[in-house]
Amino acid sequence: MNLHNTSRAVGSRPEELVPSRYALKVGEIDVLVISDGVLPLPTAMLAHNAAPRVRAAWLDNMFLPPDAFDWALNAVLVRSGGKTILIDAGLGSDPDLHLPRAGQLIRRLDAAGIDLASVTDVVLTHMHMDHVGGLLVDGVKERLRPDLQIHVAAAEVKFWESPDFTQTNMPQGFPDALRAAAKRFTKEYHNHLRQFDEVHEVAPGVVVRRTGGHTPGHSVVRLTSGADALTFAGDAVFTVGFDHPDWHNGFEHDPEEAARVRVRLLRELAETGEMLVATHMPFPSVGRVAVDGDAFRFVPIFWDY
Ligand SMILES: [Zn+2]
Repeated sequence: MNLHNTSRAVGSRPEELVPSRYALKVGEIDVLVISDGVLPLPTAMLAHNAAPRVRAAWLDNMFLPPDAFDWALNAVLVRSGGKTILIDAGLGSDPDLHLPRAGQLIRRLDAAGIDLASVTDVVLTHMHMDHVGGLLVDGVKERLRPDLQIHVAAAEVKFWESPDFTQTNMPQGFPDALRAAAKRFTKEYHNHLRQFDEVHEVAPGVVVRRTGGHTPGHSVVRLTSGADALTFAGDAVFTVGFDHPDWHNGFEHDPEEAARVRVRLLRELAETGEMLVATHMPFPSVGRVAVDGDAFRFVPIFWDY
């Protein structure tokens, strides 16, 4: 049986074979991690500053194919203090880039019984297409509230007025697609933008903080309630970043700074034992961080259903 075909065939029904959502509580805060699907990307994107031989050895050790593999793409829905907050919006539809297995978020929110009109706030870790694209899908804006607030770092909005791709290393077509998506997003949603400089509390215990690095306005979201805490790290951390925090990801606009941000965040999380979720780590990507010599180790939480 081909599972892909099966899950596509039932796509119009309320439930998929695999629901692709994972619920947990952070104290009083409800958290739902939702997969937007996967993005097949060339493995060179993982580390354009690593020797191909070393990169190939890492992939082999991880039982991953040498040329391309599927990156996860996760978004998070949070309920706190009467607010319903969507953190990032997935890829949406991308006729030019041919990534049909991503862009599932809106359909999966519907399947989870989450009405788009109930979303009071959106927080964007940054304005790359795989984080804003879901908001650009036909018919989505009309289903969102007229008073929706979209929280994004002012530095991010500014960056995309004239974005610098000189230090990135992306597959062909991506820089143009990313430019176009950010431009369209700003145009369609400028009335909803609620820009912040460094740190901003969106709801009780939901704090977004600019880190920079991946993009100048890249931000992470920390949820805290009682003794519990969880950080949604956006694109500050990738799977490979535990073994090789200094490897430069092709999508990082300032890779040196992105590596510093990554190491600082992983050290912090290792010290506090707080939970981590990241956009491109395998779903549901909920776990903790341990120090492992000069590097780090991801420790998934135990599934408790
Ligand atoms: Zn991303």
